[in-house]
Amino acid sequence: PKIVIAIDGYSSCGKSTTAKQVAARMGYAYIDTGAMYRSVSLYFSQHHVALTNPKAVEDALHDIHITFNFNPKTGRNETCLNGLNVEEEIRKMYISNIVSEVSAIPQVRYALVAQQQRMGRKRGVVMDGRDIGTKVFPDAELKIFMTADPVIRAQRRQIELLQRGEMVGLDSILENLKKRDFIDSNRTEGPLRKAEDAIELDTSYITLDEQTEWVIQLADE
Ligand code: C5P
Repeated sequence: PKIVIAIDGYSSCGKSTTAKQVAARMGYAYIDTGAMYRSVSLYFSQHHVALTNPKAVEDALHDIHITFNFNPKTGRNETCLNGLNVEEEIRKMYISNIVSEVSAIPQVRYALVAQQQRMGRKRGVVMDGRDIGTKVFPDAELKIFMTADPVIRAQRRQIELLQRGEMVGLDSILENLKKRDFIDSNRTEGPLRKAEDAIELDTSYITLDEQTEWVIQLADE
């Protein structure tokens, strides 16, 4: 029977890359919930939505439709915001700098959590995020909680940004990771937290392939 695999943890621990590989190997769907919060942040930024105005936030949420479309040319999933591919844009630093404030708004979380629950209702999904094991799928059959040394995380993120053509100093990246982890851990709705029954994995000194193997073995048990 197909299960739900929840992968939570701090920013840039390798959650999404691992989740993607695990999903591909198991024939599961991969759902990047961070991409959804990033897409909402992009929309809010484009439309100058005031984060402190509940009515403006509510109206904007009604106008936001997020989908994951498979692109046969690249063989990858693309995040689409109202039908437009925003996969590249949402990874940029200016979005990383606002996403934690946007994702701390309870209304935003209610809307996205509901959509995530609908997407995973048939199970057979690997979902990565911050609150998957605690809030979105508290009944997930396998829960992983990833951690890693902050400096190593910042270095990995720096390489990733460089590959996308954005040059950012290590200090700003480190500061952004720490700030996001702090806001994500301290918000009232769906804070970043290890579920009691989650298995912890420190990815500081292991390779991506090792991470993937480890998760797949746990899923097989
Ligand atoms: O995973 P990623 O780093 O792309 O997530 C970006 C941000 O989205 C996180 O720092 C967090 O603020 C928010 N997020 C969240 N809940 C999730 C996934 C992401 O609050 N399930």
